[in-house]
Amino acid sequence: MSLQDIKTRIATAEAKAGRSAGSVQLIAVSKVQPNARVAAILDEGQRCFGENRVQEALGKWPDFAKHYDGLDLHLIGPLQSNKARQAMELFNAIHTLDRLKLAKSIARLAQELGKCPDLFIQVNTGAEPQKAGVLPGEADDFIAECRALDLPIKGLMCIPPVEGSAADHFTQLAAIAERNDLTGLSMGMSGDFEVAIAHGATHVRVGSAIFGARAYAET
Ligand SMILES: *Cc1c(COP(=O)(O)O)cnc(C)c1O
Repeated sequence: MSLQDIKTRIATAEAKAGRSAGSVQLIAVSKVQPNARVAAILDEGQRCFGENRVQEALGKWPDFAKHYDGLDLHLIGPLQSNKARQAMELFNAIHTLDRLKLAKSIARLAQELGKCPDLFIQVNTGAEPQKAGVLPGEADDFIAECRALDLPIKGLMCIPPVEGSAADHFTQLAAIAERNDLTGLSMGMSGDFEVAIAHGATHVRVGSAIFGARAYAET
């Protein structure tokens, strides 16, 4: 599917949900895609991209930045504290804040660097043992702890379980955000971004629907 098709589907979903045009930001997930494909999407005007790994992102985006203005890069994969500095230097947003140790590292580095990316707290809405994210029952406390560290918490992010209804998870995430006065909702991927928009997503992370299948599976 083309980038334009995805944008049209987003606009239609916004209108259907009674939301204003442009209220949903499309993050084109470029992880594992060949550079030529990423460049083609850049040439179509897309500037907001998502990457899973700091190392992989460092291998391509500093070069792209020499040729394309206004990049808006989002880290959507797990972040180790020892990579926090590199991540904060490269990315405009981090969607995977999920533990106090990392929050403290980011707070310290924000002081030192004089800047901090927009932060989303990842919530493990399905309480899946293999998945990152704070548990839903711990989210309110964790949000408060991050705010006490003066971190710019923009919203929440989730990756629903493969099985079952994603909508239930989007509803759950939206409820946690609402009661904590957070406006950002990073939810929805290639298979369910329209459902996510119906439930209030502000950021959808769409990879394979734009780029085609990835050459190998991500874990
Ligand atoms: C890979 C990935 C996506 C994009 O998935 P698609 O199904 O290809 O759209 C979105 N979010 C996260 C966290 C991912 O790792």
